Amino acid sequence: MMGSHNPESPFPKKLPDGRTVIDEICTCGCRRSHHWDSLAFGQGSCRQEDVPHCNCPKFTFKDFVFLGVT
Ligand SMILES: [Zn+2]
Ligand SMILES: [Zn+2]
Repeated sequence: MMGSHNPESPFPKKLPDGRTVIDEICTCGCRRSHHWDSLAFGQGSCRQEDVPHCNCPKFTFKDFVFLGVT
């Protein structure tokens, strides 16, 4: 199981229109699943390991990531 160090994810989350949200994009360009602290999923600083120099301090919603859309 991925992200065992990350607090529980709220995704996938189904919208009223039928689409399924699997993640959210931050203004830094990384996903919400890359932002976390020890208490809350998607609330802390960016920990995207593929972007080690990302200094985003806090998740800020920019867009949804939908199931089946990459
Ligand atoms: Zn960010
Ligand atoms: Zn980032």
